[in-house]
Amino acid sequence: MAMRPPTATIRTQVVLPLRFADGYATGARVFSFDGLVDGREHLAFALGDRMADPPAGGHRAVPLIRAHSECLTGDVFGSQRCDCGPQLREAVERIADAGGYLLYLRQEGRGIGLYSKLEAYALQDTGVDTYEANLALGHREDERSYVAAAQMLQALGVSRVALLSNNPDKALQLRACGVTVVAQVPTAVHVSAENVRYLEAKVRRGGHTLDLSRPA
Ligand SMILES: [Zn+2]
Repeated sequence: MAMRPPTATIRTQVVLPLRFADGYATGARVFSFDGLVDGREHLAFALGDRMADPPAGGHRAVPLIRAHSECLTGDVFGSQRCDCGPQLREAVERIADAGGYLLYLRQEGRGIGLYSKLEAYALQDTGVDTYEANLALGHREDERSYVAAAQMLQALGVSRVALLSNNPDKALQLRACGVTVVAQVPTAVHVSAENVRYLEAKVRRGGHTLDLSRPA
């Protein structure tokens, strides 16, 4: 049974030219919001043909959506302990090609926060996996919520999405908030010597659909 989250509204929108460390560049229209349930400063980046506002001739295709949870260490500093940086970079280009929105959600460390994530890393260095470490610190395995993501989509006038994700929980949560997920599109696998244990835990404990035998 879908519940409709409280209505959020667009607060500001502004064009932001993006250029990544590898030289890839694209344009984005970034949106901020009023009325998001958790009061955090989440952003939506409209990419590709969704950048146009109002859309020339309207949008016929279902937009490609990525709900990316902030990872300061991976997104900004290129930490090799996770695959967030390459996932973000891939998502921006694929969404720019297809037309859609990147939702950048300020829920670091699967929702436990930056300092707690670093404490979980320290525990992982003693041999426990990423989910066990969260539990040992008194958190749940995964505290991320996608209610604000659903509110942002609603404010953007988007009710049907193709979801770029390997995580079944994202589609479940969005559907529970009334978003119609017409397709779940897998991302590439960004495996390295440093993050392979983390990715294995995602598959084993988080039910992610990753084929780790396949090179990125
Ligand atoms: Zn990360």
